[in-house]
Amino acid sequence: MRREPDIVVVGAGMVGAATAALLARAAPSIAITVLDADPPPQWGAGDQPGLRVSALSEASRRVLVACGAWGEIAAGRIGPYTQMRVWDGAIPAGGPGAVHFSAADIAAPVLGHIVENELVRLALRNALLRFDNVRLFDGARLASLVLDGERAELGTEDGRRLSARLVVGADGARSASREMAGLSVRGHDYEQRAVVCNIRCQLPHGETAWQRFLPTGPIALLPLADGQVSIVWSTTPAEAEALLAMDDETFRAAVAEASDGCLGQVLESGPRAAFPLRMRHAPDYTRGRFALVGDAAHTVHPLAGQGVNLGFLDAAALAEVVAAGLATGRDPGDPALLRRYERWRKPENFFAMRAFDAINRLFSNDNPAAGSVRRAGFTLVDRLAPLKGVFVRRAMGLEGDLPAAARSGVAA
Ligand SMILES: Cc1cc2nc3c(=O)[nH]c(=O)nc-3n(C[C@H](O)[C@H](O)[C@H](O)COP(=O)(O)OP(=O)(O)OC[C@H]3O[C@@H](n4cnc5c(N)ncnc54)[C@H](O)[C@@H]3O)c2cc1C
Repeated sequence: MRREPDIVVVGAGMVGAATAALLARAAPSIAITVLDADPPPQWGAGDQPGLRVSALSEASRRVLVACGAWGEIAAGRIGPYTQMRVWDGAIPAGGPGAVHFSAADIAAPVLGHIVENELVRLALRNALLRFDNVRLFDGARLASLVLDGERAELGTEDGRRLSARLVVGADGARSASREMAGLSVRGHDYEQRAVVCNIRCQLPHGETAWQRFLPTGPIALLPLADGQVSIVWSTTPAEAEALLAMDDETFRAAVAEASDGCLGQVLESGPRAAFPLRMRHAPDYTRGRFALVGDAAHTVHPLAGQGVNLGFLDAAALAEVVAAGLATGRDPGDPALLRRYERWRKPENFFAMRAFDAINRLFSNDNPAAGSVRRAGFTLVDRLAPLKGVFVRRAMGLEGDLPAAARSGVAA
């Protein structure tokens, strides 16, 4: 008969799968079960690039190396970017008041990579399947969680019953495990939606990530592997509805205009989708034998492309704390260990979340005073090399109190 797991991870999204892989590698003697409500990820090299992509930082790349997943991702389809151009809607892309970040500013080969979420999930899943101490259940939606007692008790909608010493809630922004654990979230709606679409433009993207701030929200053009560009256009719900309803020709003209023609005309465009944007943060990440990671703990505005990057740092920090506890004979669900994880990650996530929120407030309006402040700020950042270096290192995830896996690509 199989033994009960020591750890159950609820959710095999990017963050949950990474958490399980890091724990499995750091502590080969513990048994880990991963539950996911959905079927396995689908990704094929011959398919068109998926609609959901993420700008992954260097820190995230290192975490994925430590998970044993980066090799498959890199062999799949990745869009490296070496430059970033960020500018205010009221001025031209190359004019004064625009910021140009380059990997060369800090002597790095790239600033990051644009990667399809499904490819990341598939590579992490394949990494998990290579561990002897991991079991993965697809189509297993968490239905109950009881945290009292020596072991947490879990049930799934398909009738499984499990118990574990540690439960990790990695089931995304609308986390059921968080609710069952009695943890809350605070925050607000941005009253914006992000419209996403893959497009092909007249000009090559030049391995550059572009972001233009408009009064209704920013539009980002992210370079994909095959010369296409992924757009993430954050705007009012009404404009998002209108963008989804447009015919292709009108939509392409709207994208070219909103991005100020930085890549010329838009020649082709694929399917579109829109996502509501919310800022959410759990005041507590842990309760008893339970800990939250990733979007289950926090959701941020996509303007800085940091949501899953923060989640990968949660995964690495939690795995590091739990592995250190196991090495000294501690219970992996020891509340004191989990509070150490919370004290580590909560302030880091809070700081990032507030910073993105402030940027969105400063930029998503047409107040002339705010316009002067942001152009002066951009000019300052663009001209002061040390300040620029700090921004670049922060965007690459190389600043702050980093877990070992994010520093070196090797799990602690
Ligand atoms: C438009 C847009 C653009 C973005 N761009 C970027 C970017 O460029 N860079 C970046 O870092 N971040 C970006 N993000 C944020 C990023 O997508 C999220 O932070 C990330 O997907 C969160 O991953 P996760 O694993 O925590 O949660 P999820 O991806 O939500 O995964 C949760 C998993 O849990 C499973 N699940 C749910 N409920 C249950 C249950 N009851 N039982 C079992 N399993 C369950 C789900 O099936 C899913 O697999 C963007 C977000 C948006 C909306």
